[in-house]
Amino acid sequence: SDDAPGQHPATALDALRTVFGYDSFRGQQADIIDHVVRGGDALVLMPTGGGKSLCYQIPALVRDGVTVVVSPLIALMRDQVTALRELGVRAAFLNSSLGPAEAREVERAMVQGEIDLVYVAPERLVTPRFLDLLDRTRLALFALDEAHCVSQWGHDFRPEYLQLSILHERHPTVPRIALTATADVQTRAEIKDKLGLTDARVFLSSFDRPNITYRVVPKKSERQQMLAFLREHHPEDAGIVYCMSRNKVEEVAAWLNQQGREALPYHAGLPAETREANQDRFIKSEGLVMVATVAFGMGIDKPNVRFVCHLDPPKSLEAYYQETGRAGRDGLPANAWMAYGMADVVMLRQMLEQSEAGDSHRRVERGKLEALLGFCETPDCRRQVLLNYFNETLPEPCGNCDTCLDPVETWDGTIAAQKALSAVYRTGQRYGAGHLIDVLVGNATEKVMQQQHDRLKTFAVGKDLSKVEWQSVYRQLVATGLLTVDLEGYGGFRLTDAGVAVIKGQRVVKLRKDPVLERRRGVHDAL
Ligand code: ADP
Ligand code: ZN
Repeated sequence: SDDAPGQHPATALDALRTVFGYDSFRGQQADIIDHVVRGGDALVLMPTGGGKSLCYQIPALVRDGVTVVVSPLIALMRDQVTALRELGVRAAFLNSSLGPAEAREVERAMVQGEIDLVYVAPERLVTPRFLDLLDRTRLALFALDEAHCVSQWGHDFRPEYLQLSILHERHPTVPRIALTATADVQTRAEIKDKLGLTDARVFLSSFDRPNITYRVVPKKSERQQMLAFLREHHPEDAGIVYCMSRNKVEEVAAWLNQQGREALPYHAGLPAETREANQDRFIKSEGLVMVATVAFGMGIDKPNVRFVCHLDPPKSLEAYYQETGRAGRDGLPANAWMAYGMADVVMLRQMLEQSEAGDSHRRVERGKLEALLGFCETPDCRRQVLLNYFNETLPEPCGNCDTCLDPVETWDGTIAAQKALSAVYRTGQRYGAGHLIDVLVGNATEKVMQQQHDRLKTFAVGKDLSKVEWQSVYRQLVATGLLTVDLEGYGGFRLTDAGVAVIKGQRVVKLRKDPVLERRRGVHDAL
């Protein structure tokens, strides 16, 4: 670079144009940068692809001293720093991949004020050696990237983030900017609280990702359904398929390859080299499918991910937003596709109830799960439901989600719900959907006869709906909290107070007609 050491662009706009080569700021960037350059603390909530990096990179250039960027994404630091250096920015990183001599050189440069930006892994930041180094460095700014890692509810939790408040305690006059693309109300509060940012100005961008089309389909044969979706919409695009378990990741990846669709697995159980190689191929390739657990994705900067599929539901709407947000960072149309079934609801509830978390934690998790289920089962615009979860109101239905594009009819499901719920009640609140549906449609199976359930009043009162339709009814009753699943191991249904109110006729139930079911009615009648 031609810049003499310590020479700074005069203004943020200068930096944007001369260093980064962009014409104008986007969204709230100008306000955020202005606030931080003046020494204010900021909490920036901006969706993926919104342009968070410039919010600290430009203040780093305009303000005197060294900006310390805390990031958990060690694997990406080298690339980020290389890219900055190519722009002439004096940047460096400190993490475990550096040898001692290299690290010492970076430390020396910090103290001498020869760099403007240093990326640091959180575990290094809180070491006595590094804290001492900070004491000897002229500091411009602390940037805390991926700030949601401080949240104990999320799967990105990094315990070291809890210690980051030490930076402010030791350097109270150095401004801080915390950034994240995750921001439900709880996480927001937690970031402020745990990072000591209660007085920071909050910059909340819209979380809408208008180019992403949201679709949720009822699970029947999930792999075939997904393959059909990919063949129709993304025969040659790159995308991510999320699965819950490592085993399933491997199976689905292998299966996709058998179907002629090139796919790679990614999960925390694979050797580091394999993970890195797979990630690298994914980023560089055009049409590769990455089948992954949630271990994959944070910080992956691939602008042309065209789809994100979920074969298992994420554990919260926030996680869903985060994971689907990896699609379409380039602003071009992209799809978020999820297959969702009642077994998933049961499993998620089971995991939650069996977790070792304390009661209050569990209550929060339960609320998060309910929000997710509500999103899956909604007959209304999915984007409205999603944004509403982030306290953002979308005044009109979006016109770009499955429920908007292919509106689901709702029906007054009160009577069907009453039948379904009484079947639960009269069989002793012990059975799951399979047996209950046999009772409802009058299927005299061995189990039905053995239990003498053919003598119940509810036996065969549900011939008006198909088996598959009853499954949808039960799924919705569980999702909307009229039934809970008994988790002592058998997975039978129990009535909630709300469910009892329905049986008593004190409450109406609006159910969605499943569009897929409707279209294929003929097929299902044969089941
Ligand atoms: P985030 O960290 O919020 O996901 P990035 O900081 O990686 O987003 O920015 C996303 C993309 O947008 C990057 O390619 C970046 O160079 C580009 N970008 C950011 N701000 C601007 C701007 N003001 N003008 C043009 N491009 C921008
Ligand atoms: Zn919509």
